[in-house]
Order: sequence, then structure tokens, then C-alpha cells
Amino acid sequence: MRDLEPDKIKLIMELRRQGVTDRAVLGAIERTPRELFLPEVMRERAYENSALPIGQGQTISQPYIVGFMSQELKLNKRLVVLEIGTGSGYQAAVLARLCRRVYTIERHRSLLRSAEAVFKELGLHTISTRLGDGYKGWPEQAPFQRIIVTAAALEPPPLLLDQLGVGGFMLMPLGPTWETQNIVRITRHESGYDTEELLPVRFVPMVPGIAVDESAAQPE
Ligand code: SAH
Repeated sequence: MRDLEPDKIKLIMELRRQGVTDRAVLGAIERTPRELFLPEVMRERAYENSALPIGQGQTISQPYIVGFMSQELKLNKRLVVLEIGTGSGYQAAVLARLCRRVYTIERHRSLLRSAEAVFKELGLHTISTRLGDGYKGWPEQAPFQRIIVTAAALEPPPLLLDQLGVGGFMLMPLGPTWETQNIVRITRHESGYDTEELLPVRFVPMVPGIAVDESAAQPE
């Protein structure tokens, strides 16, 4: 395959122009080979600033959105993040370089297994994965000071709100499927929550339950 480094440098400059200026976030993106998270036929396009198909009707998020959300999470090495929607694993890999640990949940077994293989290849040992329904969160590890949901829903899932620590916040796209949604920040206070709209976006929908994957056999 041709050298993707020039594409990567161009992308980083574009993200900076778009407002992703945090050095740690740009560094994390620079050190995370997006091509490894893509199906082979898609790898040449790894540094296009667009979402791309990863199978099971799902997509890897657009680099700008990954940069934007990573920056808005305001992470440091003491924080732990819960991610709903592992997908390709790319967002989780970027986050792992910015915080202490990432817990990530995916409902498609085949996607989760591919993501786990890449985490291993890259030596990302601070990512814990779970095949499950993100609507249920990860109660054993709650509360979380940061939650990121990378699939859209009409309303914030109540169990995720419950698992948010006081003073912490959740970033998630809210809105109807295939229409314009908004990434919102929902902050938990001593008494109640407040919601701010951050950015209009379009994400794949959040779907309840564990998926039955399209490819037949899924050997463990
Ligand atoms: N963060 C991913 C984006 C993947 S797209 C990346 O960087 O590639 C959103 C993902 O959310 C899809 O893989 C989809 O299967 C998953 N998803 C949707 N509903 C879910 C649910 N209820 N629980 C867990 N994962 C879910």
C-alpha cells in the first residue's frame, strides 16, 4: 500500500483549522493508525475526513468528530471513560492515549472481536471491552466521570445517567435517526442534570440488545 503519512499530516492540519487544537488530542490522533481499524479495501482512504463503512451497517466516525468529542471530554491521566459503541475501536484507541482507562461496549460481536485484535496489536492494554447492550452501561465500574456515546438516541438512556458521577458529564448525539442530531453535553449536579447542545451531527442509531451478526459462524 502507498505511504499514508502525507494524508495523515494533511488531515491533522485540517482538524486544527476546524477547531481541534488541543495538543494532546492531536498527538493521540497522530499516533493512532486509523487504517488498522478499517477493512482492507478501505485502508487507502483512512485519512479522509469522513465516516467510512466497517461492516454490519456501521461506520467508523469521521476524524473531525473523533477529535471534537475527544477534546470536549477534557481528559487527563486520572480519568476513566465509558464508551458506548466500540465499532471499529478507533475512538477508544484515541481516548486510551488521553486517560487512565477506557471501558467500551459494543452490541456486534464481529466488530468487537476485530477492535480487540487491533487494541492488542497496538499494545493498548488500558481498554476493557464488553459485548453487551450499551443502554445498560457498565454498572460494576460505575460511577463514571466521563461517558461518551457514539450512536444516536432520542433520549439519554436512563441507566447511563444513573451511572454518571456527580460533577461528571456525558457526551452523546441526541435526535431522530437519519436526521440532524446534536452532540449534547449532559452534566450531573448534586441535584439533577443540565444539557448543552454542542454540534449538529449525524450518527448511526443506538439499538437495544445484542445483535445477531450477518456473517454466520463467529468462532471464539
Ligand atoms: N466509536 C466507533 C463508532 C462506531 S458507530 C468508532 O470509532 O468506530 C456506533 C457503534 O455503536 C456501532 O458499532 C453500533 O453497533 C454500536 N451500537 C449501537 N447501539 C448500541 C448499543 N445499544 N450498545 C452497544 N453498542 C451499540
